[in-house]
Amino acid sequence: MDLFTDHLRSFCAANRDVREYLRSPMRHNDAAILTNGAIVLRIRAIDEGTLEPLKQLPFADFPAKIDDAARRLAEHLAQLPALPAPIHCPFCNGSGFDKPCPVCDDVNSTDCAHCDGDGVIPAARDDADALACFFCDGTGHERQGIDIGSGYFDSRLLALIARLDGALFAPDNATDAAYFRCDIGDGLVMPMRK
Ligand SMILES: [Zn+2]
Ligand SMILES: [Zn+2]
Repeated sequence: MDLFTDHLRSFCAANRDVREYLRSPMRHNDAAILTNGAIVLRIRAIDEGTLEPLKQLPFADFPAKIDDAARRLAEHLAQLPALPAPIHCPFCNGSGFDKPCPVCDDVNSTDCAHCDGDGVIPAARDDADALACFFCDGTGHERQGIDIGSGYFDSRLLALIARLDGALFAPDNATDAAYFRCDIGDGLVMPMRK
């Protein structure tokens, strides 16, 4: 059985991300680290020796940063606020995946009626040539910002956290990562610029 559900794998970089090493869970001591650079989830005591070790800087610093945020912010943990209703990405119809347009094949696509000039058409996750949608970064939804404390966050990332059992959230400030905790571990999420 795969230890990592599609939901958990959504904390990793999308399959189109050039940082290939971020596309899969990594190992740090007895924890699994799943990150796309903007959010990081540390799953405790996962006992998965087959994972690649987390060694790529600056991401190798994430466990220490999580520990630091836990020390400073744990007493401020609270429920996440209600999140805005997701807006489906028009390019992948909310699936998070697309594939090259079979008519124009992503070349000179501005006149293509099949893909409306996008060069890609919506795909399902299981399609052989499916790539994470470039426009929504594989989330299937448009980016919406939400203020929590003095931080401004991508609601799509907060939605990933909200789906974790026992999720609690503690913002830091406008530029430093917020801390979150859940039943299986903890992690960080970066605020956005307004
Ligand atoms: Zn086309
Ligand atoms: Zn999309």
